[in-house]
Amino acid sequence: MKLIAGVDIGNSTTEVCIGSVGEEGRMKFLSSASRITTGTKGTLANVPGIITALEDAMGKLNKPVSDLSLIRINEATPVIGDTAMETITETIITESSMIGHNPSTPAGAGQAVGSILFIEHLEAGRPEMPYIIVAGNSYSYEEIAVQLNRYDKKLNIVGIILQADEAVLVWNRLEHKLPVIDEVKNINRIPDGKLAAVEVALPGQTIRMLSNPYGIATLLQLSAEETKSITPIAKSLIGKRSAVVIKTPHGNRKENVLPAGEIYIESDRTEVVNIDSGADKIMEVLSTAGEIKDISGQVNTNIGNMLAKIKIGMSEVSEEVSQNIRITDILAVDTLASVPISGALAGETCLEKAVGIAAMVKTEQLPMEKIAEEVKKQLHIYVKVAGVEAVMAALGAITTPGTQLPLAILDLGGGSTDAGIIFHDGRVSVTHQAGAGELVSMLIQTELGLANRITAEQIKKYPLAKVESLYHMRLESGEIHFFEEAIDPKYFGNVVLLHPDGMIKIEEDLPLEKIAAVRRDAKRKVFVKNAMRALTKVAPDHNLRNIPNIVLVGGSAEDFEVPEMLMEEFANYRIVCGRGNIRGSQGPRNAVATGLVLSYIGGNN
Ligand code: ADP
Ligand code: MG
Repeated sequence: MKLIAGVDIGNSTTEVCIGSVGEEGRMKFLSSASRITTGTKGTLANVPGIITALEDAMGKLNKPVSDLSLIRINEATPVIGDTAMETITETIITESSMIGHNPSTPAGAGQAVGSILFIEHLEAGRPEMPYIIVAGNSYSYEEIAVQLNRYDKKLNIVGIILQADEAVLVWNRLEHKLPVIDEVKNINRIPDGKLAAVEVALPGQTIRMLSNPYGIATLLQLSAEETKSITPIAKSLIGKRSAVVIKTPHGNRKENVLPAGEIYIESDRTEVVNIDSGADKIMEVLSTAGEIKDISGQVNTNIGNMLAKIKIGMSEVSEEVSQNIRITDILAVDTLASVPISGALAGETCLEKAVGIAAMVKTEQLPMEKIAEEVKKQLHIYVKVAGVEAVMAALGAITTPGTQLPLAILDLGGGSTDAGIIFHDGRVSVTHQAGAGELVSMLIQTELGLANRITAEQIKKYPLAKVESLYHMRLESGEIHFFEEAIDPKYFGNVVLLHPDGMIKIEEDLPLEKIAAVRRDAKRKVFVKNAMRALTKVAPDHNLRNIPNIVLVGGSAEDFEVPEMLMEEFANYRIVCGRGNIRGSQGPRNAVATGLVLSYIGGNN
C-alpha cells in the first residue's frame, strides 16, 4: 500500500489530501488538512505552509510525513489575482464651509439660520440679527450656558456650535431651548460673521434639510448656480444626525472629476476604453476584445499607475522583469469609496465615485518546479507537479454525490474565479478570471469606510443582527431571537455579526440595513458577473444552455449567500447548480487536492 498526497497551493489556502493505493489499484481517501498559504502563490515562500499542512494531514493518521511515497502538487497556472481601487471624483472644500458629522449626543432638535458669532464677541452682537453662537474649549459648559442665557434676552440666538462633547450639558441649562451641535474639533476654522445653517435631527432620525441641495438652498437663499456647487456637500451629509453648512461667498467647494485615464486592451488589436465610462463599458470592451495579450493603462493617470504597480509588485515576488509580466484579465466594478473631504472641519467623509479592479497577472515561467525541488530536498520524498488546477478541481468535484458528466465547476477562490468543464471523453476546457473573494472584501471595506480589512472579511462571512435589548436581538431576516439569560451589556444597541463562536460587535456606527445591502451588492457584482463570464468562455459554443450542471468549489463557495445567488441566476438557464461536497464529506473544499490524488489512478503518475 502506497500513501499519496495531493497538495493544492492557492492564493489564500494550501490544501492537502492523503489517499492510499492498494495492490489492485484501489484508492482510499484517508485524511485532509488546510493551512493559510505562506507567501505569494508560486514562490518558494509557500514551502513552509505546504510542509505544515502535510504534517497536519499525516498527524491525523498518526503517521510521520516520511511515510508518504509521493507528493503531487498542482501545476498552478502562473496567474495571481490582485485588487486595487481608483477614486474618480474628489470633493474639495477650500474654505471652511461645512460641518456634518455624527456626534453621539447632539442636543435639541430642528434647524436654524443665522450669522456666525463667536462667544467672545457677544457684546458686539446686533439685536435685529439672528445668530449662531460658536464656543470653544476655553469656556466651561456652565460659563457658556450663563452667557447664552444672559444674551438671549438682548440678541436673537438661534443655534449653538460647541467644540467639546457637551451639547446635552449646555442644553439642559438653557432657558430658551435651541439646537446644539458639539464635537466640532477645528472650531477655529469657522469663519466669523458668515451666514450658516444648523440642523439637529430628532433622536433616531437623520437630518433632512442640509442633506438635500434644495434644503440648503432654501435655508441659505442660494441661486441655482450656488445650489449646483453645494450638491457634493449635501451628498456628504446624507445619514448624519447633525450638520452645519456655512455660506462662503466665492463658490469654494467643488466636486472634481479626477483625470481617470484610459485602459489599453491588447489582443490582435488594441482597444481603448476610458475608466470614467464605468465598469459596464470596460467589461463590454473586454469581452469583445478576443484573446488578450496584455492590459495596461495610460501613463501618469490613476489607472496607469495602478496597473503598473500590480506588475511591479508581481515582478518583485516572482523575480522576473516586469516586461515579462502581463495582465490577462481584469474585472472592473463600479463602487463608492468613503474618503475624507479635503478642507473639512470635523474629519467628514464623502462617498466618491470609484472603480474597483481585480487583475490577473501572468508571468513567463512556471515556478512550481522550483517549489517541488525544495519540498523534495526538505522531505526526501518524490514530488511531482501534476496537473492543471482547474482540471484537477473538476476531477475532485466529480466526487460530489449527485453529479454527472459533462460537469462544469466554478472554483470561487480568493484572487480568481476559475471555471472548468469536463466531458465524457475526458476533454476539459478551463479559464481563469480576475476577481473573487478578496475583491468582495475590498468593496465592502471601501464602501462602508471600514478602518480595517479584517472587519470587512468578517462582514462578508457572517450574518448580521441588531441587539435591541439585553434579552433579544433582531436578525437581518427580521426575525427576533430571544436570549435565555441577559447578554453582556457591551453589545446593547449594537450591530453584531453572528460568528459561530459568539457575537462580534461592529465598532463603526453603521445601520444594519446599509451593511447588508453593501455586502450583498458586492458579492453580486463580483461573483454573479464572473460566474457568467467564466462559464460562457468554457461552455460548448459559448452557450450556457449546453451546461447541465455546475458544482461550486473553493473558499468563497462556503459563503452563506453566494451559492444561493448563483443558483437563482442559473435556474434561468435550467442548470443544476450548488455548493460542492467533495468526497461527500469536505464541503466545497479540497477539490484540487482530491483531484491530484485521483489523477494518480488515472494512470498519469
Ligand atoms: P485560493 O484557492 O485562492 O487559495 P480559497 O479557495 O481558499 O482560495 O478561497 C479564499 C477565499 O474564500 C477568501 O477570499 C476568503 O475570504 C473566502 N472564504 C473563506 N471562507 C469563507 C466563508 N465562510 N464565507 C465566505 N467566504 C469565505
Ligand atoms: Mg484554489
